[in-house]
Amino acid sequence: MPPESGELHNTCSTMKPNEVRVSDSERLSCSSTKILIDNGHGSDTPGKRSPDGRFLEYKFNREIARPIVLDLQDRGYDAELLVPEETDIPLKERARRVNSHCATLGKENVILVSIHANAAGNGSKWLNATGWSVYTSKGCTKSDNLATCLAEAAIKNLSGRKIRSDWSDGDIDFEESFYLLTKTLCAACLTENGFMDSKESLAYITSRAGKEAITNLHVEGIIEYLQGNI
Ligand SMILES: [Zn+2]
Repeated sequence: MPPESGELHNTCSTMKPNEVRVSDSERLSCSSTKILIDNGHGSDTPGKRSPDGRFLEYKFNREIARPIVLDLQDRGYDAELLVPEETDIPLKERARRVNSHCATLGKENVILVSIHANAAGNGSKWLNATGWSVYTSKGCTKSDNLATCLAEAAIKNLSGRKIRSDWSDGDIDFEESFYLLTKTLCAACLTENGFMDSKESLAYITSRAGKEAITNLHVEGIIEYLQGNI
């Protein structure tokens, strides 16, 4: 169950709570962190679409990832798309790109957030699942802090909408052995920003307000994490 305080503090004993705040001048040092935004899948990925075929996940992921990068760049952060291509770049190559930055900059100076849309079924029929969720690899790492920052920003920006949670490991994120989360060396999270096989969920995440809220929550969550890391 979530803490009654409403604060999403990690219970990881080695983690510091994200309490530290920095001034604008100190914040400049945050921009030394390389922020990699991944937009999952590509124009040639089979499936990964709504049952009526009108919603394509690769396209949605890019419509969220690109403004996140631009917004962070506007604020002085070193953000870039991990996959600028439209086609599906294999996970192995995506991980190689991330780890190449880690080798150059140090893994502590790189973060990865992978943007996705969820599905409750196999894509053949409409279902009713809704909600936002964030995933990390298993165990207690800096990724858990990043996930908590993203979740706090999601609760704020997706006001009144469902936030899916798994408190069994002491924090709000789900833990899965997704390739990009386990094969990369830096803090890494994957967000599922609604369900492409739910008409109710799709109506929101494809709306202008929905896209803005999803974009903003990532920008705010990432900045909150970087500020807490000082
Ligand atoms: Zn996906």
